[in-house]
Amino acid sequence: MKFAIFGDIHANLEALEAVLADAHEQGADHHACIGDIVGYNANPHECIARVQGLECPVVKGNHDEEASLSTEIIGLNPLAQAALEWTRDHLTEEDKQWLRELRMVRQVKDFTIVHATLDSPNHWHYVMNKFDAMASFSYQYTQVCFYGHTHTPRIYVKDQSVTLEDGMRVNIIPGRKYFINIGSVGQPRDGDPRASYALYDYDNQHVEIRRIDYDREETQRKIRNDGLPEPLAARLDYGK
Ligand code: ZN
Repeated sequence: MKFAIFGDIHANLEALEAVLADAHEQGADHHACIGDIVGYNANPHECIARVQGLECPVVKGNHDEEASLSTEIIGLNPLAQAALEWTRDHLTEEDKQWLRELRMVRQVKDFTIVHATLDSPNHWHYVMNKFDAMASFSYQYTQVCFYGHTHTPRIYVKDQSVTLEDGMRVNIIPGRKYFINIGSVGQPRDGDPRASYALYDYDNQHVEIRRIDYDREETQRKIRNDGLPEPLAARLDYGK
């Protein structure tokens, strides 16, 4: 059994398709999504439909939540806010209903998925260091938990932190606890513009971070043509 674990898609359909194609090639037969399907890029409805079609476990991200509501948007940077207003106008009522009903935390087999942190999943805190990770570990009841939100692949093994690079493989060793950031499909922020996801070989207990090229120019063309802010297109070239 192999899981493709992916998230922070942010309405980037080209990156999502590239990741799913690679996962298929790698023999992934299960999927799990750690949220933020929408926001920033130009295909929110299409990305929701694609994820729904996988019939896999999905948890809610902060952009999913904001896009599904009609309340005033607070606490986001101006670019994210402009993109969210655009996103609300490009989702159906059914899309919003589906996003609203997503759960914050899910257990899949014997691992956990969450968008931001386990200690306060609905506050959308960012795990930036081992102290943040320790707070989350206190609420982690499975050996492995996958998360996202910072758009930077990283692994915390109780008290340690290791940056995950392309193709890096981590063996899950019994008795240790792992909190694994899988990076972002649709808007990487670690300086590498390629889409990021995790391939979890469940039978052999190892996790690999994979970085995948996609048709970035097409994603950028849509952003520019559909009236989203220009910096959202430019940043995809830099992975920032
Ligand atoms: Zn995100």
